[in-house]
Amino acid sequence: MANIAPKGTKDLLPSQVYKWHYLEGKFAEICKKYGFKEIRTPMFEHTEVFARGIGDTTDVVQKEMYTFNDHGNRSITLKPEGTSGAVRAFIEHKQYAEVQPTKYYYVTDCFRYEKPQSGRLRHFHQFGVEVFGTPNMLADAEVIAIGHDFLTELGIKDLELRINSVGCPACRKKHREALKAFLQPHYEELCGTCKTRFDKNPMRIIDCKSEVCHEIVKDAPRMLEYLCDDCKAAFEEVQENLNALEIPFEVDPDIVRGLDYYTKTAFEFVTTKIGAQGTVCGGGRYDHLIEELGGPPIPGVGWGMGIERVLMLMEANEVEFPAEDRVDAFIAVMGDEAKKFGLKLCRELRQKGLIAEMDTLARNIKGQFKYAGRLNAKYTLVIGDDELAKGVVSLKDMDKSEQREVRFEDIFEEITK
Ligand code: ATP
Ligand code: MG
Repeated sequence: MANIAPKGTKDLLPSQVYKWHYLEGKFAEICKKYGFKEIRTPMFEHTEVFARGIGDTTDVVQKEMYTFNDHGNRSITLKPEGTSGAVRAFIEHKQYAEVQPTKYYYVTDCFRYEKPQSGRLRHFHQFGVEVFGTPNMLADAEVIAIGHDFLTELGIKDLELRINSVGCPACRKKHREALKAFLQPHYEELCGTCKTRFDKNPMRIIDCKSEVCHEIVKDAPRMLEYLCDDCKAAFEEVQENLNALEIPFEVDPDIVRGLDYYTKTAFEFVTTKIGAQGTVCGGGRYDHLIEELGGPPIPGVGWGMGIERVLMLMEANEVEFPAEDRVDAFIAVMGDEAKKFGLKLCRELRQKGLIAEMDTLARNIKGQFKYAGRLNAKYTLVIGDDELAKGVVSLKDMDKSEQREVRFEDIFEEITK
């Protein structure tokens, strides 16, 4: 086992990492335009932060968290998602006392003990955005828009935006009663997990992946039919805002989301292109989470996006990633003097901002050329005793296979022109 990565984890070799750099760069860029600032919070929190934040009747808290006691006997949990930590930091540093709203974005590792399968890992990564401090549906539209624009800019098609309202505690109570009354006659048929959900959080049953439960809830009352006036108006407003932005969406009364903290707006970006794990991005409004975690009564709205799933979808869409940067200059040397000179030249070119390489395995000159080819260098600079004596390098354009002499002081200019 010592030479195998744990189940549900993935190594990212350099041939993959450059794609991640590209994605992270694109995400930072769009966040900047939308006025979101990056927040970085610890990779683990006191378990309580997640238990209270996400809600202890959810799958994440009940079955999926990596929780352990540290040597000081504190219960610690590795981040299963990004919102709770961001909220904890927002409260701890009294950021609510600053100008509102607060707009954060993050890129984070996440850990959930799940059954690994395509698009479902135990250690995965998320992009996320959060807006704290405004109850206005303009904020909901803004977070949905940034998700839509980001995915579109990446060249992803075949995505559907589904939205729903999960109401507020007041209207949810009525729905809960209606739902329980509907489910009561089927109680014995429900799966084990849903039997416990029945009392604690019956709305979760609508989201159950077991076929039996799925069948049972088909005609169950949905939250949308029970929205109070306030929630109904809010839901209409989100839709009006999305229409104004010309962002296509579909109302999907089945979206309840996997975390308990959502109120009113809930949404997902989904696709059928990457198999069963089709939710690329999920989020919504959480008007009581900040208070729940010990802060003032401040509303929030945001989303989390699975980076692995975005990559899968880009691959399914055959999106071309920008090519990796090429080596600008490979320095090939013959003889001891040339080697030292080359070493210095290589560093100087790097200091001037070029990607420069030379051989460190004592290859002969033929081997060095072959290596330059393998590195896909744009130019190879050949230096031997003759060149040193004349104060030139022999510069070979590797794409055109042309070679000419260039004086030392002109090298940088020749390569960059
Ligand atoms: P799912 O229904 O797929 O389990 P979820 O409702 O648990 O998703 P969220 O908690 O809302 O998902 O997380 C936001 C996003 O993070 C998901 O839409 C998905 O893209 C990604 N994600 C969640 N769990 C995993 C996982 N185990 N592996 C990879 N990506 C994940
Ligand atoms: Mg899940």
